Amino acid sequence: MEVPDSITCVDCGQTAHRLSYPPEEGWEVGDYVAYRCSGCNDRWDLVVAGDEPDSTFVSYASEFRAILERNAEKLKE
Ligand SMILES: [Zn+2]
Repeated sequence: MEVPDSITCVDCGQTAHRLSYPPEEGWEVGDYVAYRCSGCNDRWDLVVAGDEPDSTFVSYASEFRAILERNAEKLKE
């Protein structure tokens, strides 16, 4: 299974490059893949979720939503 070398950071829109090297046996569903944003320097740990290119990170959107919600909670405090 292939995972992208880079993703787009939802926080700042810059490119986040992959930190994790592929395991010897290749990526599998459930593996964590870490990315570091070149813009805001945030780290993203994503879970490999499926074989389809469109669903490589099924948890991507929901995790980002959770992060955004956490940030919104922080702003309220
Ligand atoms: Zn960023």
